[in-house]
Amino acid sequence: MNTQATTSREAGISKALLGWYRTNRRRLPWRENPEPYRVWVSEIMLQQTRVETVIPYFERFLERFPTVEALAAASEEEVLTLWSGLGYYRRARSLLEGAKVVLESHEGVFPRSYEAALEIPGIGPYTAAAILSIAYGEPYPVLDGNVERVLARILRLKENPRKTAVKKRLREIAGSWMPPDQASSFNQAMMELGALVCTPISPDCPGCPVNKACQGAEHGDAEKFPRLPRRRKTIAVELEAGIVRRGDRFLLERSEGFDYLEGLWLFPLAAPGDGGIENRLAEILGTKVEKTGELKTVRHSITFRRLGLQPCLLKTGRFSLKGKPAFRWARLEELGSVLPVSSLCLKIADRLREGT
Ligand code: SF4
Repeated sequence: MNTQATTSREAGISKALLGWYRTNRRRLPWRENPEPYRVWVSEIMLQQTRVETVIPYFERFLERFPTVEALAAASEEEVLTLWSGLGYYRRARSLLEGAKVVLESHEGVFPRSYEAALEIPGIGPYTAAAILSIAYGEPYPVLDGNVERVLARILRLKENPRKTAVKKRLREIAGSWMPPDQASSFNQAMMELGALVCTPISPDCPGCPVNKACQGAEHGDAEKFPRLPRRRKTIAVELEAGIVRRGDRFLLERSEGFDYLEGLWLFPLAAPGDGGIENRLAEILGTKVEKTGELKTVRHSITFRRLGLQPCLLKTGRFSLKGKPAFRWARLEELGSVLPVSSLCLKIADRLREGT
């Protein structure tokens, strides 16, 4: 990989890219008013999540918590409720923690220094660079999945771009292409190019503003880059969910021990080792529990796990939830509006509404 790109080549790439971005960029709510708090929330929500999915969550979140102060004063339950269905719930907790740190240590304003930004919960090198460049124009190049793909194709990079040393070189190259006074637009342009033109499959090389400088396009093999190691194998996880109804309310349990759903409310679950959901609940509730039917299996993916979840309709004897704080009753319409839940829980609720 030649890191000594010529000055005219660098200037040509950034000029073409910035010109393209000016006319082709999407109008996104956090772009219209890129103040640090808004950029911060958007960058956290956009991690591992598509732009279209994030937009309504971002708008609801900013309406409820328009400032760092408002967020810092919120309860975790409230923040998780607004995050319900967005996934990767650890992000929501870190954002809340981060708001408290920014309020206490930085007078409510996201710090402008890279080192100070990295001290805030939930902020890593990528997020720090993204917030500081987009909100403050600080010249830190960003390297997310989209930028990594664009660079790997332009350079026809033979190495794995996720390796630390390679990442560092890619960041240096992106930095050498970035006009220091246009860091915000340049970074967003690189990300936007990866999202709209240099897509993982079928990149639009003829319509790309940097195709003249792109080695992947020149060789006609852009899609072979980036060269990433094989993905982690997916793991199938089979679970049962217990549906216990009392009038229009359903029994819910706060997840503990399922690291990816920690703290969220869900229909009680049982793994195969628990001897069936009816046995697990009979033991916890201290009453007879009988299976009376099943709904269609719910399929759901969480990172590398592929869940197959069987909702089981259950009939129980009398029981009380007194002294059982991990359990409660809730109406379907409360899921995600009053109580924090995952999209897995919402999918089961849909099955119940449909009666299938
Ligand atoms: S020319 Fe093609 S491969 Fe190269 S950056 Fe543009 S879209 Fe990607």
